[in-house]
Amino acid sequence: MDVLGIGAIDGHREPALRELADRALEKGRSAAARGRVSQQIPALGSVDPSLFGIAVATVDGAVVTAGDSTVPFSLQSLTKLFSLCALLRHEPTAWEQVGWGPSEAGFGSVAELEQHQGRPRNPFVNAGALVVTDRLVHHASDAAESVGRLMQELSGEEVAGDPRVAASEAASDHRNRAIAHVLTEHGRLLNSVDDVLDHYFRQCSLTATTTAVARSALFLADRSSHRGPLDTATIRRVNAVLLTAGMYGAAGDIAYRVGLPAKSGIGGGVLAVMPGVGAICAYSPPLDVTGNSVGGIAAIEEFARLAGWSVF
Ligand code: GLU
Repeated sequence: MDVLGIGAIDGHREPALRELADRALEKGRSAAARGRVSQQIPALGSVDPSLFGIAVATVDGAVVTAGDSTVPFSLQSLTKLFSLCALLRHEPTAWEQVGWGPSEAGFGSVAELEQHQGRPRNPFVNAGALVVTDRLVHHASDAAESVGRLMQELSGEEVAGDPRVAASEAASDHRNRAIAHVLTEHGRLLNSVDDVLDHYFRQCSLTATTTAVARSALFLADRSSHRGPLDTATIRRVNAVLLTAGMYGAAGDIAYRVGLPAKSGIGGGVLAVMPGVGAICAYSPPLDVTGNSVGGIAAIEEFARLAGWSVF
């Protein structure tokens, strides 16, 4: 079996990549049965659990897909990565506001926020993501719109909000509201709780295909050019924090099993970046107990194994 590792991929290897994507899809599909579709946001509770899509984009221009790669899905926490990137463009020192270390608690922990005097552990726990959205509102006025626009610019595909999902989350959420109040009490938000939540729920409701997500994240793999929105030093930091904090409590498990910086969302999307080579996005709605797509992780693990993708 060919190992398509660093420097080994070029446009001619597309057929080989496609075969790996197909095999990853097969592996992921059989694992998906072990998961359950998230009921956290009522409007997402009835999504078809059998949907499964994969897209791989490489820095030398190949894009290969398998399964339902053209079905737009709810990005949810995947947007936290792109809101962070959008904010860092305006405010390179934003790390000081949101932290960069791993979290010992779940992504919606209020207790952890209290223990650290209202300072979020990183931009990917909800507390950190709310601070990011809040500061993006300050710089760009509409955070959701600015995240969608960034992804659209990077992918060339449509990235649209889903007002029904945003309204459903706004009507059922208590935890993000609690976190936002704790942040306010500690003087960490610039805007009102209601404003920040409105932008945050609309941002999380953005939908896109696996192809759009893989293409949007490609600049995080691109070491050779300055085409992307962030400089090389910032990209290294974003990838480092993805590795230690992008997959919630499972970050260590994913580093061990997959060995790539990765981010997931409760909509069922998972994204992983192979620096210098490419990005892969898998979509499969059933989640494990840590809130990560079971099939999506299994598919990316298989693809990474077959392609020789690992940062280690
Ligand atoms: N909108 C969800 C929340 O804030 C996103 C969670 C996730 O995808 O992990 O709780």
